[in-house]
Parts: sequence; C-alpha cells; structure tokens
Amino acid sequence: MTPLRRILIVGGGTAGWMAACALNQAVRLGGTRVELVESDAIGTVGVGEATVPSIRQFNQDIGLDEATFMKATQGTFKLGIEFRDWRAVGTRFFHGFGDTVVNTGPFSTLNHWLVARDLVGDAAGEFDAYHMAAVMAHAGRFTVPETDPRSPYHYFSYAYHFDAGLYARLLRTKAEREGVVRHEGRITGTNLDPETGFIRGVRLEDGRDLLADLFIDCSGFVSLLADKVLGEPFLDYSHWLPVDRAWAVPCAGHGPLLPYTRATALEGGWQWRIPLQHRTGNGYVFSSAHVSEDEARARLLDGLDGAALDEPRLLRFKTGRRQRFWARNCVAIGLSSGFVEPLESTSISLIQGGITRLIGLLPDQGFNPALAAEYNRIQALEFDRIRDFIIMHYALNGRDDTAFWRERRSMALPDSLAERIETFRETGHVVLLNEETFVTPSWQALFVGLGLIPTRRDPLMAVQKREDIVETLRLRRNSLAQAASRLPTHADFIARHCRAG
Ligand code: FAD
Repeated sequence: MTPLRRILIVGGGTAGWMAACALNQAVRLGGTRVELVESDAIGTVGVGEATVPSIRQFNQDIGLDEATFMKATQGTFKLGIEFRDWRAVGTRFFHGFGDTVVNTGPFSTLNHWLVARDLVGDAAGEFDAYHMAAVMAHAGRFTVPETDPRSPYHYFSYAYHFDAGLYARLLRTKAEREGVVRHEGRITGTNLDPETGFIRGVRLEDGRDLLADLFIDCSGFVSLLADKVLGEPFLDYSHWLPVDRAWAVPCAGHGPLLPYTRATALEGGWQWRIPLQHRTGNGYVFSSAHVSEDEARARLLDGLDGAALDEPRLLRFKTGRRQRFWARNCVAIGLSSGFVEPLESTSISLIQGGITRLIGLLPDQGFNPALAAEYNRIQALEFDRIRDFIIMHYALNGRDDTAFWRERRSMALPDSLAERIETFRETGHVVLLNEETFVTPSWQALFVGLGLIPTRRDPLMAVQKREDIVETLRLRRNSLAQAASRLPTHADFIARHCRAG
C-alpha cells in the first residue's frame, strides 16, 4: 500500500482550480502535496457562468466568503431560470430554486393548485405565482433567505452567475497562497508503470517530468488522461441530446439587472442570457444537424439586447460521459469526465460533486478498488439523473415549427425518465432517490411549465374543504407578491453588499 504523497491536477480551468483548493485543504495537514499543471497556450473553456445553489456550499467549504467572491467575479444572484418559448412560441414559465418543504407530500402547493384549477380554472393563477423564487424573480427583487420558517423569505434558495475565468483566477490565487504548486507547460507524454498500468508521471514539452501518486484529469474536452491515455469509453447521450455546438458572445448590459438566467428556445436549440455586473453573457446552443454554424451565429447576434462586446466564439462538444471516472490512479473531473449540456447549469455542480466525493473516498492509505467502484457508481448515477432532467425539457416541448422540436417529442426516452414522466402524468407525484441535484419542486416546475397536468388528484386532498383551498391559495399568492415588493431591486442589493470595484 503506497500512501498518497503527491497529487497532480492536470488542467487549470474551473475544474482544476476548484479541485486544487478543495483537495489541498483536505490533505495538506497530512503532508500530501497538491500540484497543478496547465498550459496558458491551450487556455480554458471558461463560459460556465450560471450555477445551481450547491456552489454556495463549495465556496463556504473552502473558506471563500460571498462578498469577496461576488466582487472578484462580477457575480450576480440567480433565483432560477426563465424558460421562454418552450411550450409554444410566446409562452414562459420559471424554474425557481427552493421551496422543498411546501412542495412535497400530499398537501403540496402543487396539489392545492391542481384542485383550485379544477374549481376555478385560470382564476387559480399561474403555478409560478406560488413560488417565492419565481415571484421575486419576476419582480426583479432580491434578498438572501431568512432562517425563520415563519418568514416568507425562508422558502427559496439561490445560486450565482459569474465570470468563470475570474473565478478560476480567484481560486488560483487562493490555492497558490495555501501552498499548491503550479507548473506552466504543455503535456506531451505520459509514463505508465508497466506492471500496474498506473500513471507514474506526465512529460512536458520542455522535457520536465512531473511525478505523482494520484492524477486528477481536469484537462477539459480533450480528456488527456482518462481518454487519450487510459482509453476509458465514452457513453454517448447525443441520440437524446443532439445539441453539439454553441456560439457564445458577451454584450453590454441593458435594462434592469435580472436575478435569473433566461433560456429561450430557438429553431434548432436554445439561447442563454446570463446577466453579470459588467456585461451580459449570451449563447446559442444548437444541433449542427439542424442549423448551420453561420445561421446560428446570425440568429444569436440578432437576438442580443445590447451591443456585442467581442467576436462570437464557437464551442464544439458531444453530450455524454465516461463509463468510469476513476480508473487506476486517475480521476477525471470536469469536461474530461463528460458534459450533459448547459441548459440547467449543472457542469460546475458535477465538478463539485466529483471533488467532494473524491475527498470522502481519498485513497490516502493506498488504492482500494472498492473506493473507485463506489465513486464511479455514484458519479454515474448523478450524471444520468441530470441527463434525464435535461432530456425532459426537450421531450415535453410543445413546438411544432421545426423538425428539431418535433423529433425531440417523438424520441425514445431512457426508461428511468419515461417512468418518471408517466408517474407524474398519472398521479402528480415525483418519486426521487436520495440527494438528487434536482428535487421535487424542480421537476414540478418543469412538468407544469411544459404543460403536463396530472390526470388524477391526490386522494388525501379530499379531506380539505374545496372553498378553503381556493381561498388559501389566493391569500398565499397575495402575501408572496407583497413580500417581494418590499425587497430591494437586485441591482440595489448588489450595490449595497457586493459591487465589483
Ligand atoms: P477547461 O476549462 O477546458 O480547462 C482545461 C484545462 O486543461 C486548461 O487549463 C488547459 O490549459 C489544460 N490542458 C488541456 N490540455 C493540456 C495539455 N496538453 N497540457 C497542459 N494543460 C492542458 N457549466 C456551468 O456550470 N454553467 C454554465 O452555465 C455552463 N455553460 C457552458 C456553456 C458551454 C457552451 C459549454 C461548452 C460549457 C458550459 N459549462 C457550464 C461547462 C463549464 O464551462 C465547464 O464545466 C467548466 O468550465 C470546467 O471546464 P474544465 O475545467 O473541465 O475544462
């Protein structure tokens, strides 16, 4: 059994520097050294700008306070995603973060709303009107959640939008200050142990050899170790998720600073709009089998709401994941491990999950195949659950205008997703495993937002008086709207607490 003396992280994008900060924190007291190698000449993807709430826990765990982070990364707050034109052109709905308590169980807001709809039709209002995150988002207001469960500001959560390049820079400064050693250079070769097949070291273009006991492959889409050296198979998701390109371009901010991402369905994919303090990030994620690169570029530039600040950048990718993430003495984290597509901003959360799991299963007493197997099982499950959630957005779309959308509606689905959709369609229930990234309120928001209304009502709702249900919902809707109107605007909140210098 070899103790872990040296960990080498290959790649210095968001994944590499997140791994460096967290791993170094976990192992430095035990005397293990963490080093990172990256090549400025190759650069990073650096368009990951929207996140899910778990990123807050990561920053907290590595000792990065919110105001410092927001100022350094030109960050803004994200209450969720507004989906435009997915059910049909001209429609919109909101996927907000939080509200797990009031949204699960037989007496959930959903079940009340369904009964109220049966009784009074459209007078029951939109489902969004009963979710604090959505109500705040539509009002353009923001505050952080309160801990008191009696407060209307208790039942929501939030994440961030930020400049991923600045985030990596911030993490790099922190990691280097805390002892992580960075090497600059392009890796051109590897040295494997002939008996075990374990990686002993990587060779740089200038002839230097970097040796380690454990390698973290954060090399991005090239997947330098997991794919090119170890040949770990790639499980392709593209028959479900055929988007394979994105044009990305920043533009000048325009109008109020919105506390949410916007995802607008277009002819052959969808467009993101991510507001930062100093600019707005935009991108058109599309299927090249349905829209040409030139058409997509023109469509993106047409739809900007401020002047473009740069030339659009084209990113090519394939959706899917490695069959195993941890093989021999190498763990792939970030784009080298797979990519689902950015619709629900899940890449950084998958990186975080990978790092946290690895720290929990760290082979610091030597390599034990059971740890790698456990890591691979859980990480695969996490990827596949997120995959299902994303596919569902496409499968339930209501657009008839292009082949892209019609084909998505008729595609065969993974059984796990088909069964979840069928269960909701019939009962209104979402039956989750433990610790899924997207919990019941997220599935409900998407199902209802995309127009899937369950056929039967929960039998336990029969114990509630029908007129009480309508009145309770009316009061709740009014009280949420009033509570949101008392909050500062998103821009004011940032100016007060975390404006970048
Ligand atoms: P990269 O950023 O590509 O970094 C790779 C590193 O490896 C670099 O430092 C490079 O120098 C190094 N490297 C590679 N080869 C060598 C070599 N031979 N020698 C030395 N060094 C090498 N995620 C989100 O969470 N939210 C989003 O909104 C989001 N939007 C996205 C939109 C698009 C279109 C795409 C493509 C991705 C998006 N992502 C998003 C994903 C996100 O960008 C990545 O998960 C994140 O940036 C992590 O990338 P990475 O660190 O794995 O790879």
